[in-house]
Amino acid sequence: MKAVLLDKINEPFLVEEVELLPLEPQQIRVKVGASGVCHSDQNLQRGIYGMQGPLVVGHEGAGTVTEVGSDVTMVKPGDRVVAVFTTACGTCWQCSRSRSHLCERFMDHIGHTVGRFRGSDVPALGGLGTMAEYMTLHQSQAIPVDTELPDEQLALIGCAVTTGAGAALYDAGVVPGSTVAVVGCGGVGMAAIQGARAAGAGQIIAVDPVEHKRELAIKTFGATHGVDPTAPDALEQLRALTDGRGVEYALEVVGRLDAMRFAYDATCRGGTTTFVGALAGDLSLSLPANELHTSAKRLVGSVYGGAQVRRDIPRLVKMAETGALDLDLMITERFRLDEVNTAMSVLERGDVIRSVLVL
Ligand SMILES: [Zn+2]
Ligand SMILES: [Zn+2]
Repeated sequence: MKAVLLDKINEPFLVEEVELLPLEPQQIRVKVGASGVCHSDQNLQRGIYGMQGPLVVGHEGAGTVTEVGSDVTMVKPGDRVVAVFTTACGTCWQCSRSRSHLCERFMDHIGHTVGRFRGSDVPALGGLGTMAEYMTLHQSQAIPVDTELPDEQLALIGCAVTTGAGAALYDAGVVPGSTVAVVGCGGVGMAAIQGARAAGAGQIIAVDPVEHKRELAIKTFGATHGVDPTAPDALEQLRALTDGRGVEYALEVVGRLDAMRFAYDATCRGGTTTFVGALAGDLSLSLPANELHTSAKRLVGSVYGGAQVRRDIPRLVKMAETGALDLDLMITERFRLDEVNTAMSVLERGDVIRSVLVL
């Protein structure tokens, strides 16, 4: 099969033949329909996660099960599935406490072999490797969904939508009529804005330096206001929109310390700051300790939106079917698998919300 591989850090991805191997008892094979292109793929390419090649790239994908191992019970050939980067085993200590996004079995499966390349076994990012004609994954990493939505929309649910909309709905727990700010309006940010809209937020402030993204957030995804965080009075502007208090829920979706601090400062007393963005491993966030105490703000770290994938991915699919989440308008560019490096190069472009590789 053709697959996108990380070979060397800071070099373009390779698109090469990878030889598929017979399935292990718990593994399944999925014919990939579409794979999203995420900033995490770029972090991987730049060596920020410290992972070395060769490995198959891509962690946001959907497709159809073609083959299952001898012990597979969770899916069957013909099922349409969304690939997830948690194992959600359902039985470990975290899963049994309704935190399957933190499943303790994850590391058992993440490094498994998905094929052979240049004579060696190769693993895949997140145990998935969605940027390939076929994924070989543990059965617990595929959520079956019964829907007519196209694979390119289902793919987004694998990362951006669950991470962003999930952060608003589950980790932050936005309530109807409340005030929300989303700091960073890329794919995950636009999903967070839509999650806040679906939760019934009364005011949603899109915070992004790119004017086009702020406008799109308002015109298309449900934001009510926009603030440019590079303006010298950005925080004052945001507070002026909320009677001087700040928002009840601020979500940071960039993965930058200054954006995290902005989100914290934008949060009202007693409000909740949710940190969604991924950062390099060794950075530390500095906050005014006494103010944190006296303002009684709640700080929430958010992984995969806090979603319980077996329950929530089918629900997010339903939300996309009813239009509560508009996933079609999140896709700005479509590429073929062998155009992956062009897809990576447009990630920084101001008008691109999400690119997908369509197979
Ligand atoms: Zn991602
Ligand atoms: Zn588990």
